[in-house]
Amino acid sequence: MSEELRVSPIETREMPGKRRFAMVVDTRRCIGCMACQVACKAEYDTPLGVNRTWVPYKVVGKYPNVKKQFLPRLCNHCDDPPCVRNCPVGATYKHEDGGFVLQRYERCIGCRSCMAACPYNARFMLPSHRTYTPITNVVDKCTFCFHRVTQNLVPACVQTCIGRARVFGDLNDPTSEVSYLVAKNATQVLRPEEGTKPHVFYIGADRNQTEFGRDAYRKPEVMELERSAFKRHFDI
Ligand code: SF4
Ligand code: SF4
Repeated sequence: MSEELRVSPIETREMPGKRRFAMVVDTRRCIGCMACQVACKAEYDTPLGVNRTWVPYKVVGKYPNVKKQFLPRLCNHCDDPPCVRNCPVGATYKHEDGGFVLQRYERCIGCRSCMAACPYNARFMLPSHRTYTPITNVVDKCTFCFHRVTQNLVPACVQTCIGRARVFGDLNDPTSEVSYLVAKNATQVLRPEEGTKPHVFYIGADRNQTEFGRDAYRKPEVMELERSAFKRHFDI
């Protein structure tokens, strides 16, 4: 197969003149302060019980040598995203310049095919009514803060990360910090065998801890409490 055929038509990495944004998450620097999760909630008015980005953790090691291993999660803005392929109405699409995977709310019929197709559990359904915004009953997810990046700002989670565990930039720009980090460090992506070509790169992540969805890191009773709080506030 020729190189040209193996490259997805929507892939923008290493295409001359195109930007390809990516995030590097250095897990060695993440202290689990959750500031990124809070900043994201504030930026988007995300309802209770769902998150665009979240920071699951696992306790690893053997007593007394134990530590918490944090693995910040978000949409991977995959180069070959199954959520885009599986959307029957073209509501989920890939932005040609930058590689953002975005959502056209006005087209989305809330069928949840994209949620089922995403191997990273990165999508969620918005409730049927919300207090401050008319966007309801559609699927949502992280946008790599498209509205900020197009104004030359970094995503809210990156701006707020005190440990500088999250770094964002154009991977096609050889002078960017993300290019440098990806070139100089061993990086991991989540579930590479899915062939989605994620553009969130982890430094120092343990493969054994990358195979879980968001729920695997939370105790069932905590999940249940959150779910009932969510149901009390929203009719879904
Ligand atoms: S992580 Fe999931 S939602 Fe994000 S682009 Fe990839 S498949 Fe789509
Ligand atoms: S829920 Fe919306 S975005 Fe997802 S597949 Fe259905 S129509 Fe497309």
